[in-house]
Amino acid sequence: MIASTPDPQSSRQASRPALRPLDDALAELLAQAQPLGRTETVPLVEADRRILAHDLVSPLQVPPHDNSAMDGYALRAADAAAAGAVLPVSQRIPAGTAPQPLALGTAARIFTGAPLPPGADTVVMQEETEPAAEGAIRFIKAPHKGQNVRYSGEDIQQGAMVLRAGDRIGPAALGLAASIGLDRLPVAARPRVALLSTGDELVMPGTVPPEQMPAGAIYNSNRFFLRRLLERAGCEVSDLGNVPDTRAATVQALSEAAAGHDLVLASGGVSVGEEDHLRPAVQALGRLDLWQVAIKPGKPFAYGQIGATHVMGLPGNPVSSFVTFLVLARPFVLRLQGATDLAVPANQFIAGFDWPRPDKRREFLRVRRNAEGTLDLFPNQGSGVLTSLAWADGLVDNPPGQPIARGDRVRFIALEDLL
Ligand code: AMP
Ligand code: MG
Repeated sequence: MIASTPDPQSSRQASRPALRPLDDALAELLAQAQPLGRTETVPLVEADRRILAHDLVSPLQVPPHDNSAMDGYALRAADAAAAGAVLPVSQRIPAGTAPQPLALGTAARIFTGAPLPPGADTVVMQEETEPAAEGAIRFIKAPHKGQNVRYSGEDIQQGAMVLRAGDRIGPAALGLAASIGLDRLPVAARPRVALLSTGDELVMPGTVPPEQMPAGAIYNSNRFFLRRLLERAGCEVSDLGNVPDTRAATVQALSEAAAGHDLVLASGGVSVGEEDHLRPAVQALGRLDLWQVAIKPGKPFAYGQIGATHVMGLPGNPVSSFVTFLVLARPFVLRLQGATDLAVPANQFIAGFDWPRPDKRREFLRVRRNAEGTLDLFPNQGSGVLTSLAWADGLVDNPPGQPIARGDRVRFIALEDLL
């Protein structure tokens, strides 16, 4: 049948934006994310998970001097060229002391980390020596010249760049910064993010006990994980709570949220149902585009601006909200901090499961590494099944329409790399 007048259903379908691939959506989103450029200097330990604001160049050599990798004896290798050589011990060099030049034809008692005395080129570990005459030591076998010596600058050369602006700081980078003498680091200031939940069905845990939950009510779970995901991605979060499902309340909440924040992140209400008020409310104050991103879980996503404040709407379904945060919102807030490496790290893994009926959208399947070194699949991959994410240690990033058979190589993303 050919309809001469479009029915309301089909015209709504037609106005729906086309599905766009995740990579295109991400590129478009990141194009909107200019680094905020605000920086601050924080004590070293507080720089964990922050984005470095300036390059760090080492003012010194690390280690600062040639030193011993062992407890043992420092010597010139040439003085013990044959097994069983005996040398007098001319000095004792604990770590943290400054040695005298090595007297010719002698060895120095030395400890791990202690500077090598000028003239010595080799360290023999104490287990390969034995006491000889009073004040002398026997080298059981002939040493190789240079063995057990850690050279000055072996880790870091003076003038070398140790960390770059845009690097994300972790515990190892903190230690590295300390090793060049820094006790504070310049980092990007935390983006200020206002977090909103939408939905009249949402009840905050703690306010109503489970046995008294009204019909149709559910506890708000997104609010908790989105807050921590934002904080772990370096943001300072103002949790502005639940917004009732009315246009007026949504407009009011958004205009308050936009003031004084770099980003308003809302969950729920980004579909095109008449209970979804985010789009009309943002459009009353600024602009907002609804996107259909070709991922599962996920799909509805909104991006717009109110004045200079970014607005992002994540789907309401908890797993969709979580995954969409990881693949779109997280790189966005990292870019606001000037982060340079936004790629999601992935590895090849072997599927220990079958996935015969893939979706036509790119899927992010909740999986867990098992003792055999393959991946197990959580049985219920529903977009509301938060148990799947709490159980999972990673996601399989499966291309559109790609069936998976046990033994296939798949692209695995470790959740810990994104948290
Ligand atoms: P919506 O995107 O508003 O249509 O919501 C989609 C689904 O996600 C509905 O089942 C909502 O009840 C649920 N949902 C929305 N927001 C939350 C939230 N903050 N916590 C838990 N579930 C939510
Ligand atoms: Mg809703």
